[in-house]
Amino acid sequence: MLPIHSNLKGKVAVVTGGGGVLCGAMAIELARQGMKVAILNRTAEKAEKVAAEIRQAGGEALAVACDVLDRDTVVACEEKIFQTYGACDVLINGAGGNHPNGTTEKENFKAVDLDDETIRTFFDMTTEGFSSVFNLNFIGSLIPTQIFAKRMVNRKTTVINISSMSAPSPMTKVPAYSAAKAAINNFTQWLAVHMAEANVRVNAIAPGFFLTDQNRPLLTNEDGSPTPRMEKIVDHTPMKRLGAPEDLLGTLLWLVDDEASGFVTGTCIPVDGGFMAYSGV
Ligand code: NAD
Repeated sequence: MLPIHSNLKGKVAVVTGGGGVLCGAMAIELARQGMKVAILNRTAEKAEKVAAEIRQAGGEALAVACDVLDRDTVVACEEKIFQTYGACDVLINGAGGNHPNGTTEKENFKAVDLDDETIRTFFDMTTEGFSSVFNLNFIGSLIPTQIFAKRMVNRKTTVINISSMSAPSPMTKVPAYSAAKAAINNFTQWLAVHMAEANVRVNAIAPGFFLTDQNRPLLTNEDGSPTPRMEKIVDHTPMKRLGAPEDLLGTLLWLVDDEASGFVTGTCIPVDGGFMAYSGV
């Protein structure tokens, strides 16, 4: 169990995508640290499930149904959270994911694929499909940041964006997701510079590979056995395993605790078992 950071007690955390696997674990840990946690999720039941788990353990949590791409809804959520808990101290932009409309079916294109209408190639991707994945993973972090960060200025607060191994070098099949996560890294640096004198630190965490609902169909077969893609990932991870959600929590606590990381801003911290450092040879 991680040590308690007593200076987090009573502060307010807002976690978008907090009904999901990785950010749900983050919400639960921040509540265990004594923070008041608002869990924003498009699917309300998923947020409520995490909030209930927090309350059952004696923590404080508020589940809020929220689509991070719907500006008006995010504004209403911010107001509700402000009235209930006060201004946000820690914003985690965790809502994200993939969709077949923003992906190619095969890793590498071959001219013959054009003759087979059943194969979804790069040329079949629609602007709408690409945009929907790009927007969820990038604009879906921009909108909540604009809305929550207004009340975060001059209070030693923190924004944490969630990046990916697909940002520094894109993963095959997922061009829209990769472009969006690269944009997240760039935006993290831009906003960190922009907000530095207003005492809002902005950092990102780049998880390696974790088995969650968003990638289960890519990484496991129906019987639960690993797909060739999963085998490739583990093979390319020097620590030879996937991450577990708990692997992210120490880095998260370090980044949100101003006493521990008060001079750290504009960074993206990989939590990846060495994946990013390994050239494959
Ligand atoms: P997840 O699918 O378990 O969680 C994502 C959550 O976001 C879900 O609860 C979903 O309902 C919610 N969501 C989706 N669209 C939304 C919207 N428009 N508004 C509000 N909520 C919405 O996936 P996860 O793996 O826990 O992903 C969390 C974050 O971590 C994502 O940004 C993802 O890209 C990133 N990430 C995941 C991995 C991994 O290996 N799983 C690796 C790197 C980065």
